[in-house]
Amino acid sequence: MTGIPGVGKTTLLSKIVEALKSHNKSVSVMSFGTLMFEIAKKNGLTDRDELRNLPVKEQQNLQRLAAEQIATQNDQIVIIDTHAFINSPEGYYPGLPEHVLKIIKPTNFVSISAKPEEIYNRRMKDDTRNRDKITLINIKKELEYQSGMISACAVITGSPVRHILNDEGKIDEAVHKIINSIGL
Ligand code: ATP
Ligand code: MG
Repeated sequence: MTGIPGVGKTTLLSKIVEALKSHNKSVSVMSFGTLMFEIAKKNGLTDRDELRNLPVKEQQNLQRLAAEQIATQNDQIVIIDTHAFINSPEGYYPGLPEHVLKIIKPTNFVSISAKPEEIYNRRMKDDTRNRDKITLINIKKELEYQSGMISACAVITGSPVRHILNDEGKIDEAVHKIINSIGL
């Protein structure tokens, strides 16, 4: 499950897990960023939002270690909460590069988006995060970049991509679309 910050991935996932568990499915959700941060903390990193400012080489190493942890999960359904790309000082770089895809072998991609204005408002409301400067123009650029990155993932893995719009106030609709489209 990918999407730029503030599209609503984590919100949707908590509802998806609730729905799947009520149908007795064994499901786990792994936040790729949290796994990377847990590993980086052992090397002294203190702020999750500092991850994307580490040298890309270090981020790549953390990505590999996080992917290896994900690959050990053996629930019926394993969902990864992640970004298709990361906005680092060196430029946009892939959240799911080929070396990571080869370790985690995703069967399906879900790409979440929302209206740029809604994403803008959601980011502005969330003061728990130390976000980059937020502009509508950047959000539009990020949405374009997201669709390119996720298309590349589909080509590398041969797995399908489902695009889901997470409209304001319509969380349940998006949740049902995701569950039904993947046949969970
Ligand atoms: P990040 O990549 O930064 O972790 P995220 O994609 O996980 O972001 P969330 O934290 O799930 O995004 O959502 C951001 C904010 O938007 C939250 O305050 C959440 O409650 C709100 N939100 C998410 N989906 C909707 C929706 N459909 N309608 C209204 N508000 C929503
Ligand atoms: Mg999140």
